[in-house]
Amino acid sequence: MTQTPKPIALFDMQAQQALIRAELDRRVAHVISSGRFINGPEVSELEARLAAFSGVHAVGVSSGTDALQIAMMAEGIGRGDAVFLPAFTYTATAEVPLVLGATPVFVDVDPDSFNMDLADLERRIALVLAEGKLKPRAIVGVDLFGLPADWDGIRAIAAKHGMFTLDDAAQAFGATLHGKSLGQHSDATTLSFYPTKTLGCYGDGGAILTPSEDRAALYRSLRTHGEGGGRYEVLRIGMNGRLDTIQAAILLCKMDLFDQELKDRAKVAGWYGQRLAGKVALQRVPNTAQSAWGLYTIRCRDAAERARVQDSLKADGIPFGVYYPKPLHHQPAYAASHAASLSAAPPLAVSEALCHQVMSLPMHPYLEEGEVERVCTAVLRGLG
Ligand SMILES: *Cc1c(COP(=O)(O)O)cnc(C)c1O
Repeated sequence: MTQTPKPIALFDMQAQQALIRAELDRRVAHVISSGRFINGPEVSELEARLAAFSGVHAVGVSSGTDALQIAMMAEGIGRGDAVFLPAFTYTATAEVPLVLGATPVFVDVDPDSFNMDLADLERRIALVLAEGKLKPRAIVGVDLFGLPADWDGIRAIAAKHGMFTLDDAAQAFGATLHGKSLGQHSDATTLSFYPTKTLGCYGDGGAILTPSEDRAALYRSLRTHGEGGGRYEVLRIGMNGRLDTIQAAILLCKMDLFDQELKDRAKVAGWYGQRLAGKVALQRVPNTAQSAWGLYTIRCRDAAERARVQDSLKADGIPFGVYYPKPLHHQPAYAASHAASLSAAPPLAVSEALCHQVMSLPMHPYLEEGEVERVCTAVLRGLG
């Protein structure tokens, strides 16, 4: 009788927990008995750990979305400001400037890296300047699927126009560019600790990294209602954006595994690459960058080929994801703002095409080579 193989998970939720279960129980129980649920010592311990890892200041916050909001509030971004960001990303990247009254200007992405296309970025900045309705204020680069965007290029463009650079690294904590951690390549970098991210907690959580001590102090104030030195002195309009102590305790346990997990993710990506390179388009990693491999994403030729690969995976009970099925400028909530952002916005053709072509395969540090083999066999069968 043949044995049914154990199911392959898109993201790991169990293997990691089994490794640190005793420490998780100990740390969480400690927070519960200490009673310091808000801003307990675990929060500053985690911030110190994140700062040591990234080489810059770290401020814990309530989610990746709130991290983006606090970072933009600190710059005073709002009405009349243009915030340039990729059309091919998670909704939160565009939602936050809209919440603050600013206007997202969607930029197309590169078909090979899936990250922001800098020629298109420059073209759209020039169009915004020519129209004169909005002020170019910020560039939000996204390190999609774990791969750092071209931060040297983004910084150079931002410097020409005096713009703020914000790295939405929600999918990419652990990645490096020129051997240096994210956090060091932009004015501010936001992280998400949503459970399926490279470093995830057991609920919502996030952090903001910045080389600037002044910005870090501002973020600490903004996450606690804009408070000043004294607890009941309100200096600026802020929000409730704190990271809770139990989540910080959980993240501290997970940080013990993080370096090894990053190595294991790279190993898994290597196994995929060996079997799939030349057969289907893979996200191209420049030799200056190391991806954190938040997701492993392939690009099929068209929607029909992708449907065949998906059917093949389904037949073998293998999970997959589609990030993202719709570009942001086609989202009902953003279409009106997009239409008003430029009187004649150039098409976002690559972002639109990728939504029909990409799919993400199982990726986590606890995948075994035999499991990757099974996924690849199904992918190759679907490709025909
Ligand atoms: C997950 C994610 C976010 C939001 O993070 P939350 O912690 O869920 O608020 C923002 N941007 C990108 C690119 C993401 O993938």
